[in-house]
Amino acid sequence: MTHVLPPLPYPADSLQPHISANTLSFHHGKHHQTYVTNLNNLIQGTDLESLSLEDIILKSAKNSDQIAIFNNAAQVWNHTFFWNCMKPQGGGKPSEKLLAMINKDFGSYEEFFNGFKQAALTQFGSGWAWLVIDQGKLKITKTGNADLPMEHGMTALLTCDVWEHAYYLDYQNRRADFVEAFLNHLVNWSFVEENLTQAL
Ligand code: MN
Repeated sequence: MTHVLPPLPYPADSLQPHISANTLSFHHGKHHQTYVTNLNNLIQGTDLESLSLEDIILKSAKNSDQIAIFNNAAQVWNHTFFWNCMKPQGGGKPSEKLLAMINKDFGSYEEFFNGFKQAALTQFGSGWAWLVIDQGKLKITKTGNADLPMEHGMTALLTCDVWEHAYYLDYQNRRADFVEAFLNHLVNWSFVEENLTQAL
């Protein structure tokens, strides 16, 4: 099967001023598109050609000869998931039900906020910060490069891309400001709640 770049779920200028149209256009139209193109080229003629994206990720992760396929497939998945984790006028606290779970598993929304921010800031180099569900419990985690929770038996609920290409044009080296803008103004909590409902 041929993998295709999904359209952004909102106009490229609609996350401004937190993420500029320039950043989002390059990130989606160039970076994400390149992962899709590379993936299609790399799986051609292999036993992964007819598999779903998730199956390609899980299978290639177990084969050290297929690291390039894993990296591109995982980055295709991560970016599609990341776009859906945001919306214009998002961010702040989630609904009562998820907030109750956050309070139970982290102590308070503020502790979740600080923990997520800390994970994003301490991911050395390129990678991702995540809110996941692991055996019925919410957890914060981080992964390097293309790595992702499904490879570690966890279900992703929310992610923030902390590769420099995600924020450098708008924030330069200020990753903390980008992550705070993400949490305060961009998170699509309805998407997170849908992921949670499906996982439980
Ligand atoms: Mn990215």
